[in-house]
Amino acid sequence: RTAVVLLTRDLRVHDNPALAAACAADRVVPLYVLDPTLADISPNRTRFLHQSLADLRGQFRERGGDLVVRHGDPVAEAIRAARDTGADTIHLAADVSGYARRRERRLTADCEHHRIDLELHPGVTVVEPGAVRPGGGGDAYRVFTPYYRAWSASTWRKIAPTPERLTLPDGLTAGDLPALPAGESPHTSEGGESPGRRRLSLWLKKDLSGYGDAHDDMAGDATSRLSPYLRWGCLSPLEVAEAARARDADAFVRQVCWRDFYYQVARTYPKLSTEALRTSGDQNWRYDDDALQHWQDGLTGVPIVDAGMRQLRDEGWMHNRARLITAAFLTKHLGVDWRLGVAWFFRWLLDGDVPNNSGNWQWTAGTGNDTRPYRRFNPIRQALRFDPEGVYVRRYVPELKGIEGAAVHQPWRLPESEFRGLDYPGPLESHRDEAVWLR
Ligand code: FAD
Repeated sequence: RTAVVLLTRDLRVHDNPALAAACAADRVVPLYVLDPTLADISPNRTRFLHQSLADLRGQFRERGGDLVVRHGDPVAEAIRAARDTGADTIHLAADVSGYARRRERRLTADCEHHRIDLELHPGVTVVEPGAVRPGGGGDAYRVFTPYYRAWSASTWRKIAPTPERLTLPDGLTAGDLPALPAGESPHTSEGGESPGRRRLSLWLKKDLSGYGDAHDDMAGDATSRLSPYLRWGCLSPLEVAEAARARDADAFVRQVCWRDFYYQVARTYPKLSTEALRTSGDQNWRYDDDALQHWQDGLTGVPIVDAGMRQLRDEGWMHNRARLITAAFLTKHLGVDWRLGVAWFFRWLLDGDVPNNSGNWQWTAGTGNDTRPYRRFNPIRQALRFDPEGVYVRRYVPELKGIEGAAVHQPWRLPESEFRGLDYPGPLESHRDEAVWLR
């Protein structure tokens, strides 16, 4: 028997249920299709993807198989691979984005037409979206805490076995991977299961009991930075959550649950990235190109915001606290439509995905799964609390590196001659009524 596994964002051999199921057949076609529809969205992510594919190919070759690479429509290529090799089954990890679900529906129809079995598997989240449900029916959770409770109490699936050997069908050419494309950010993490597992094992060696207190320390950078590896499935979210649970790292497991939460939300609200989930909160959005540009360039004149925006461009990643501050600044201070923020983050983030990017933006903008949609983030108070010495700001905003201590957060308070010598702008005006924080 021969089976095809269509890999999408489950680029790993460890705990990959779709791959493990395919490996029950005598011969396996592990297929990745470079889909032109997804090609130009984010050069940073494309580079990370290609690094991950090269790593996966290495893993398969070590096990006697190979990664089969094709270009074009994943549905057509998966069917072609199955027909060319006489495979009777195609295995695929279920996913929630609108695009992934359309792909899945088309594959279902084409498999039926060609009398090929399609088997869908878990693996993109810890708990499958829709597997836990709120009391009263439906699967639409409005807020996180009840979801977290149900999620924590649910039974997690078993870790899938890692295949030891893979045999490709005779005569199948694996296909070349194109040359590694350039990203946009100079200092990105390297994609792939091997670098992901190295990072995970270093993370698990730390004392994770301190995570709850330390993860908001912006300069300390005390988070795992595993998000890009989870985004691409270089790491299994279940394996990460189980390992953390075994170390009683509850605060960290709770963050991993936020990721699952937004997948469940995206499954229920397919228009999460374009339509507000709730109509309370500020809805009167502005479309101010000049303000947007200053924000994108890290030139708002508010150092903590500018530091975050520059970290994004420099690393293709941003500290969670900085994501909150910069997103709140765009939506609640400048009053700019959150969808413009979604698009900008989506271009740069290695971990950028529809559920988490849009879900978190909606939360921050007050249109999403937050019980306090009118919540304000005063960026100065946030800066003084989470970057008390100004180390994070000086790391990313070199114009300000001569200002010592917390004074770096409000350069406009320096004597005028000093401020003018900085080559750094004054703060952008607020378009909401709570501009008092600047004084
Ligand atoms: P850690 O603190 O080590 O947390 C471990 C894991 O938990 C993360 O890798 C991530 O998978 C998950 N996690 C942590 N916080 C959150 C959260 N608030 N929501 C969902 N999952 C979380 N995360 C993404 O993965 N992709 C995105 O596109 C994304 N966009 C965001 C946009 C905005 C406006 C905001 C405020 C947050 C966004 N986040 C996104 C969530 C969060 O900022 C990142 O997951 C986190 O910073 C990743 O760093 P880490 O791996 O070091 O996290």
